[in-house]
Amino acid sequence: MPRLSLLDDVRIGAQSLGASVSDALIPSLRIGVTGLSRAGKTVFLTALLHQLLHEGRLPALKAHRSGRLIEARLSPQPDDDVARFALEEHLHKLIHERAWPQSTRQISELRLTLSFEPESRLARTLGRTRLHLDLVDYPGEWLLDLPLLDMSFEAFSKDALAKAQAPERAPMAEPFLKALADRDAGAPLSEEDAAELAGLYMDYLRACKEGHRALSMLPPGRFLMPGDLEGSPALTFAPMLWESDSRPANGSLYQAMERRYEAYKRVVVKPFFLDHFARLDRQIVLVDVLSAINAGSAALHDLSDALTAILSCFKAGRNTLLSSLFSPRIDKIAFVATKADHLHHSQHDRLEDILEELVVDAHLRAKFSGAKVETLAVSSVRATREASARSGSTGLKAVAGVPIEGETINGETFDGEREVAIFPGDLPTEPGALLTQHAPANTLRFVRFRPPKRNDGSEKEERQPTLPHIRLDRLLEFLLGDKLA
Ligand code: GDP
Repeated sequence: MPRLSLLDDVRIGAQSLGASVSDALIPSLRIGVTGLSRAGKTVFLTALLHQLLHEGRLPALKAHRSGRLIEARLSPQPDDDVARFALEEHLHKLIHERAWPQSTRQISELRLTLSFEPESRLARTLGRTRLHLDLVDYPGEWLLDLPLLDMSFEAFSKDALAKAQAPERAPMAEPFLKALADRDAGAPLSEEDAAELAGLYMDYLRACKEGHRALSMLPPGRFLMPGDLEGSPALTFAPMLWESDSRPANGSLYQAMERRYEAYKRVVVKPFFLDHFARLDRQIVLVDVLSAINAGSAALHDLSDALTAILSCFKAGRNTLLSSLFSPRIDKIAFVATKADHLHHSQHDRLEDILEELVVDAHLRAKFSGAKVETLAVSSVRATREASARSGSTGLKAVAGVPIEGETINGETFDGEREVAIFPGDLPTEPGALLTQHAPANTLRFVRFRPPKRNDGSEKEERQPTLPHIRLDRLLEFLLGDKLA
């Protein structure tokens, strides 16, 4: 193996110092992309990067429209301890397999460097012509853990068990509640008992999330989205009540659960907020409003609570839990209703109104903290085109696409090849109506569509058009416009 001389060492050191110094002179903007699982984070970030890297159709992004956005290229990411967002893999899946990529399971990031010509002469004179865009994708479930930092194990358990007994959750929680009732909290810790209770609690949270139930408020966040803590002992606790006046004995099951809960807060929750969340400049919160609408009013209320909890993380006011840790610096937040391509464009305003209604409480809080908030309906990858259908003598505004193999509507099962037109139904004109107690479930008809064909007949990949989208450019203008001015 060749030996490096002292001089080589110095040279290498100087080179990397040179690179990092010139790199450090380029301003950076750190944007978080979050949302609960299946909200559309992976597809969104893949599509956004694809549009910027391949000069997609982005007319609402002023710098692009006026030709001032010169180049976008990938650069080495700033953090060595964070996974790289698997852009190439996801794009391959979308474009070549016409299948959706693997969803977000942990935090990842990617750096894009934009070269542009600023509008202002001063910025040109100062040579402000490049911007590092650090995009950080992370599960929204992790944000739901913030209130835990301020909650004792007793308070967490009371809240979690009251939720588990609520009518819309009780059937899923039954196995856990039964196992808990069978255990003596004061008995000496048995690892088997602890693991079984934690496993059943996790199963219950998963069951609430899955299928038609689509519930959202399901902390602790790592139980659903463990990231690199999959199978870790940090996750072997579950809520439990202590009903005696005396303190639980050392080494009891209850005491072990309490200690593990405190450790979860200390070694998992707090470091995430300090190391990652605190460094974000702007934030995108993706929301799968359509699935919650179809799950009915309980799911919508739950989603609204989750969004309020997420927004409380951005609140920079004094004397809040967060401000005791650090001061969040986020100055713009975009709430985005994803998968708008499931609806005809005439319904998109209503989708935005519903999202607005869902975040109204949250919205007020963020405004209070001085951050600008935007709500938008977007499709990161548009899998449908608009079509018309007839029902008797009535014309219906439908969407047409290729349903994924095995999807069904009205007893018809699709083969993954044939295009069909579907009338998804109309959203209500009065968004509040959906949040009333008795709003029914399954009012909309949806299937999952395959990603679109990108082939325009030309052989060369670079000549093919970028993937179609809806309003990604408006979102980019909100998030980046001022930085490229
Ligand atoms: P994540 O869990 O937030 O990372 O969610 P994903 O990005 O993996 O998206 C979950 C699923 O939503 C995907 O597998 C797609 O089925 C669907 N999806 C996401 N974005 C879109 C979109 O723009 N259009 C359509 N039609 N489906 C989408």
